[in-house]
Amino acid sequence: MSGEEPYIARCGWCEQGLVRLYRCHECSATVAICDECERIWRDPSAIHDDPKAKSSGAHPNCPCCPNGDVTWSRLSTAEIEQQELADLVIGRST
Ligand SMILES: [Zn+2]
Ligand SMILES: [Zn+2]
Repeated sequence: MSGEEPYIARCGWCEQGLVRLYRCHECSATVAICDECERIWRDPSAIHDDPKAKSSGAHPNCPCCPNGDVTWSRLSTAEIEQQELADLVIGRST
């Protein structure tokens, strides 16, 4: 592994962060999270298509879980391919 992590958008809200794919350990939802402002989008394709798409919540709370505070893990390239989300990736960075 190169250590280069895929991202699916440049955040249009903070204009600094890169938006990456994460999975919630509680509900297994795949969401997009900005690594700078920590906004979360339930639908990764929404922020991919529109950098100003309205967010669904903010890290660390999962917008799909009633109790909110959950553990996240970043999707690997292999997991992104398994979930057929590779088309959303626009670049890679550390
Ligand atoms: Zn969840
Ligand atoms: Zn952001």
